[in-house]
Amino acid sequence: MADHHTDDNDGGDHEGSLPDERALRTAIGRLRVKPGSDLVLAKRATDGDFGMSKEQALARLTETRARIDVLQQRLYAESRRSVLLVVQAMDAAGKDGTIRNVLTGLNPAGIRVSSFKAPGGPEAQHDYLWRVHQQCPSRGDIAVFNRSHYEDVLVVRVKQFVPEAVWRRRYAHIRHFEQLLGDEGTTVVKVFLHVSKDEQARRFQERLDDPEKRWKFRAGDLDDRALWPEFQSAYQDAINETSTDDAPWYVVPADSNSRRNMAVGEILRATLERLDPQIPEPEAGLDGVKVV
Ligand code: ADP
Repeated sequence: MADHHTDDNDGGDHEGSLPDERALRTAIGRLRVKPGSDLVLAKRATDGDFGMSKEQALARLTETRARIDVLQQRLYAESRRSVLLVVQAMDAAGKDGTIRNVLTGLNPAGIRVSSFKAPGGPEAQHDYLWRVHQQCPSRGDIAVFNRSHYEDVLVVRVKQFVPEAVWRRRYAHIRHFEQLLGDEGTTVVKVFLHVSKDEQARRFQERLDDPEKRWKFRAGDLDDRALWPEFQSAYQDAINETSTDDAPWYVVPADSNSRRNMAVGEILRATLERLDPQIPEPEAGLDGVKVV
């Protein structure tokens, strides 16, 4: 499924074959934020193309999805472990488009996407991880979070919904929570879709100008845009504080939809490949059984 955006102009000459598997893996590996590496978000590219044209990125994602499908079926059959993919981003960076494009065609029975809005009702009456824990994947499943518990150290910090002492101690809660998930069989992987401020302006304008897309625009989006530096700082700190070996953050260039989707597909695929889920041994005594 294509994401119809005009930002995917090819900057360079990408004629010829896809970058080899190893080069791509290395390029994707560089997006990972190593624990203790002191990420400076402003130094991370928003416009990386991984040496691929838009068409090449689409072709690669198609292949990757087929592989994810196989691995997801094995994960489901094995039914011992699970994967949680957390997707965070500034508005219009493409959370929805990424999730749609990466997961299209997978077996819906094994996938759950949860979106987290401002907490209301019982959510607001509990600790901030309560609603999140309930949406974590069952054994054998892949869960995707469209926004997540990270909002509680991002928007909540920037908009000063709670005092600093409250959001600051949450980094430790989150590290421990994700460690608990990992220890109990859920592999956590987190992507920050890194869009430039200019590209966000272009996409907002496109939403405003296109009657089919205007519904996506909220006046509040401009308030958040005005707080761009504060949000970038909050993201930078949150990522630095919570990127661990077992629950790493990846900063994914998001100015190009096709390369962004491709990169997130690679990250999910690599996570599943590392898990190497195994289909269970069949029952004994099935050899030679004929169904009549
Ligand atoms: P999206 O932008 O994800 O497509 P919405 O436009 O409905 O969806 O925005 C959801 C809003 O909910 C965002 O502004 C986000 O910051 C807010 N939100 C999510 N979680 C929290 C939270 N824990 N506390 C406050 N606001 C939150």
